Amino acid sequence: LSIQRGYALFDFLRSVNSIPLFLPGHLDRFFGSADGLHLTVPYTRDQLGAVVQELIQRNGIDEAGIRLMLTGGSSPDTYHPTTPNLVITCLPVRTATNEDFEKGLRLITYEHQRELPHIKSINYLTGVWLQPLLRQQQADDVLYHSKGLVTELPRSNVFIVSKEGSLCTPAAGILHGITRKKVLELAGGLLPVEERAVALEEIYNSSEMFITSTTRRLLPVREVDGRLIGNGKPGSVTRELYRRFRELEEGLRAGGPDR
Ligand code: PLP
Repeated sequence: LSIQRGYALFDFLRSVNSIPLFLPGHLDRFFGSADGLHLTVPYTRDQLGAVVQELIQRNGIDEAGIRLMLTGGSSPDTYHPTTPNLVITCLPVRTATNEDFEKGLRLITYEHQRELPHIKSINYLTGVWLQPLLRQQQADDVLYHSKGLVTELPRSNVFIVSKEGSLCTPAAGILHGITRKKVLELAGGLLPVEERAVALEEIYNSSEMFITSTTRRLLPVREVDGRLIGNGKPGSVTRELYRRFRELEEGLRAGGPDR
């Protein structure tokens, strides 16, 4: 059903020094996505966590990307889901560098709302389809918006620092990123945090903007639709949150708890 109807879900995490990063959050989301697509994961949470750990060890890849995929199964009538198939892969992963952080991203906007946005389905049709447009516009990525509100990027969440000095991130119509969640926690005490609707107009006037994802951590946005965000350089809030995030990761690398 995955190939014939696009009916499947996945989750993607990475390991740091052979330790899966934010495993509990990723397992929660994986089981949540399965529930959302009415599919049953053929293992318990603990079993799946152990499989992930073992896969990292056996492959001997310290910094790996682990992909858990659950499909609608081999359907005799090619439409109704049967027993799901579970595939887990473990491959080397490239994460964004400090140079990528300093450079920042050029985004363009595109009106689109992902289907069943809270589920991490395998449907990236629009994102992949937009690649030639991105190349033509010399943009790094696309920011989706719908009915005047921004949502997310095809594979990342988005944050702004508003003119009033709050950290704002869309709450609805998105996939709840694990990196997003950590960043919201890390922002505690630094500045007011608002999970709320963010208008497209507001982002053009924001003083800072950045995106979050498993492989990109936090990356500043320097330009949207040819309009500069702030002074086009990584802002102080973005920089501090990035520092805190790296610190969290380094703590885990050094044997600390997966928080
Ligand atoms: N939004 C979408 C649609 C995604 O596919 C992803 C991850 O690939 C994200 C946001 C970011 O989520 P995470 O921080 O868990 O990688």
